[in-house]
Amino acid sequence: MSNRQIHQCKCQECQIGNQVIGKQHSGLNLLMSRLDEQQRRWMAGLEAKKLGHGGTKKISAITGLDINTIRRGQEELEDGLSNRPTQRIRVAGGGRKRVEKK
Ligand SMILES: [Zn+2]
Repeated sequence: MSNRQIHQCKCQECQIGNQVIGKQHSGLNLLMSRLDEQQRRWMAGLEAKKLGHGGTKKISAITGLDINTIRRGQEELEDGLSNRPTQRIRVAGGGRKRVEKK
């Protein structure tokens, strides 16, 4: 289990103390803190797309993710996640599941 820290948003609205926006952003960052790396990328990509023009930059400021990472997430989504594994990514050596057959 990783004890990932929740990212503090550094966007303009949060800097000037906009609490409504701030709550949305901290909610997004809370959610992101519980996702794995690729899920975070997709989530960010999706949110950036919702914002439209300049969305990638905004989401980057909110989540602290790199713009290129968010773009990659968007590309993967547009591709239907066809090249991504459907299982959760496990840490290597984390023990393998025993398959019981009957
Ligand atoms: Zn913010």
